[in-house]
Amino acid sequence: MTVRTRVAPSPTGDPHVGTAYVALFNLAFSRSQGGSFVLRIEDTDRARSTVRSERMILDSLRWLGLEWDEGPDVGGPHGPYRQSERGEIYADHGEKLLAAGHAFRCFCSSERLDAVRQAQQQAGETPRYDGHCLGLSADDVERRLAAGEASVVRMKVPEEGLCRIDDLFRGVIEIDYRQVDMQVLIKSDGMPTYHLANVVDDHLMQISHVIRGEEWINSAPKHRLLYDYFGWKAPILAHLPLLRNPDRSKLSKRKNPTSIEFYRRMGYLPEAVLNFLGLMGHSMADGREQFGLAEFVDAFSLERISLGAPVFDLEKLDWLNGTWIRGLDDDAFADRVAAWAFNRENLMRIVPLVRERTERFADLVALAGYLVGDDRKLSADSFEGLDLQADEVLEVLQFVLWRLEQVPDWERETLVDVCTSLARAMDIKIRSLLGPLFVALSGRPVALPLYDSMVILGSEVTRARLRDAMQVLGGVSKKQAKRLEKRFRDLVAASAETGGKEEEKGR
Ligand code: GLU
Repeated sequence: MTVRTRVAPSPTGDPHVGTAYVALFNLAFSRSQGGSFVLRIEDTDRARSTVRSERMILDSLRWLGLEWDEGPDVGGPHGPYRQSERGEIYADHGEKLLAAGHAFRCFCSSERLDAVRQAQQQAGETPRYDGHCLGLSADDVERRLAAGEASVVRMKVPEEGLCRIDDLFRGVIEIDYRQVDMQVLIKSDGMPTYHLANVVDDHLMQISHVIRGEEWINSAPKHRLLYDYFGWKAPILAHLPLLRNPDRSKLSKRKNPTSIEFYRRMGYLPEAVLNFLGLMGHSMADGREQFGLAEFVDAFSLERISLGAPVFDLEKLDWLNGTWIRGLDDDAFADRVAAWAFNRENLMRIVPLVRERTERFADLVALAGYLVGDDRKLSADSFEGLDLQADEVLEVLQFVLWRLEQVPDWERETLVDVCTSLARAMDIKIRSLLGPLFVALSGRPVALPLYDSMVILGSEVTRARLRDAMQVLGGVSKKQAKRLEKRFRDLVAASAETGGKEEEKGR
C-alpha cells in the first residue's frame, strides 16, 4: 500500500501546538513508510477562516522544520488543497448522495430546531435532528426549492444498530446509531460542512491513514457511513491521545500558551519544540529523550504510541530547550540569538521607540528588556497605584483580551481602535484602561509606547502576558467569568447600537 497521510488544519486562529503534534506524527509515519505527507487547508467555515491564520499555520510548521510533499503553496497532483477552492466537487458529491437516497433536503427553521433540541434536552435525550423532513415527497421538495425556500442537505443515518469503527490504537469501537445525528452535509449557503469535505477529500487525495486527534472519534461513524454511501474504501483510522495540561485537563490556552508563535517568540529552538512534541505519546525504544527529526522518523512506529494522556509540561520543554541550546557551539549560539531577536528587522522596530529616551546604550537593556525578553517581575502589588481597583483591573484585562482574540489583524490602528472603543463602552478614561496593560506587558506602570510595544511583542505574547497578569491577580472564577461574559456581551451590543446610530447620523 502506498502510505499517504495528511494534516488538515482549519485556519481559524493561532497556529496551535496540537496541529504541529498531529503534523509531526503524520509526517513521521509517512516518511518511515516511504510515503507522502499532504497539508490540506479546511477553510469551509467562511466566517471564521482567515488568510492570516492560514499564513501563520504554514509559517509555524515550516519554522519547526516540517515540510509537506503536497499542499496549497507547493501544489501537487490532487489539488486544489484549500477546501474553499473545491466547492463544485462537494456540490457534485452532495447531489450524488441525494440522488441515491442517502441524503435528504431539510427545510427546518433554526427556531424549530432549537425547540426540538430543548425538548430533547428536557427529556434527558441526546439532542439530534428528529427526522422531520425525511418524509417529504420529491414533489414537495421541488416545489419548496422552486419557491426559493432555504434548505440544507442532511445525511441519513440508520435508525438503530451499531456502527463499528476500527481504530488502529483502540481496536473496534462500537457506537450506537441512535447517538449519531443526521449531520448537515451542505449548508444553506451551498458550502459543505467539515464532515462531507473531509471524507470526499481524504478519498480523492488517496489518503491511506487518517491519524488525527482523539476529539474526532465521535465523528467517525458519520464518516464511516459516508464512505459506505459513496461505495469507497475507508482509510485506516488512528486517533492520537489529546495533549493535556499538567492537571490533566485538555490543553487550553488559559493554562498554557498553545500558539507555536509564542514559543518561537520567547526563544525556544524549533528542534527543541519538535523534540518535545515527539515525546507526546511516543517513546524511543532505547528511552532516549533528545532526538532530532531524522532520528524520530527512523525510530517512529505506530506501535510505540501509548494512549496514556501526554502532558504538555513546560518545565520539561524548558529543560529540553536548555539541553538543545547548550548543544550549540558558540558560533551557532550567536547566530541563533541574532536570528531570534537581534536581527536588523527586529532592531529597526525597537530603535524608533528607544532612541529619544537613550542617553547611553547601556540604558537599552532596562528600557527594552521586556520587548526583547521577558524581564517582568509581576505581582499583585505591581497593579497598585493605578486608578482602578483590583477587580476593575481584572475586568479591563479580560475585556481587552477578548477583544484582541477577535481582531482580524495585528496592526497598530486596530489596537488603538480596540482600546479606545472599549474604554468608551466601559465609560472609563483611555488612560485608566491603558494603565493595567502597561503593567501586564512590561511589569512597570510606565514603559515605552504601549501600542507599539504590542505590535512588537505580537499577538501571542501580548495575549499570554494579559492572561498571566490575570492569574497574578488571582484569576477569574467560573462565576466571575459568567458575570464578565454577560457584561462584555452587553457592552458589545450597546456599542454596536451607538456605532450604528452614529453611522446613521453620518449619512
Ligand atoms: N479540520 C480539522 C481540524 O481542524 C481536521 C480534523 C481531521 O483531521 O479530520 O483539526
